[in-house]
Amino acid sequence: MKEPLKCDRIGCNQDAVYQGHIYGHVKGEDPKDSFLPVNACESHSKSTGFYIEAKLK
Ligand SMILES: [Zn+2]
Repeated sequence: MKEPLKCDRIGCNQDAVYQGHIYGHVKGEDPKDSFLPVNACESHSKSTGFYIEAKLK
């Protein structure tokens, strides 16, 4: 059984509805900005800087 993905937004506990990416960098890792894969719920998919790639079933 596949586990439902959760929204990657800090403090959010919703199930992810969209798969996409944000433009930024991981603290302490690559200092250059790049596209990072993230999952988002319905409301956070509308956040600025979130690019939707696919809708999760
Ligand atoms: Zn969310």
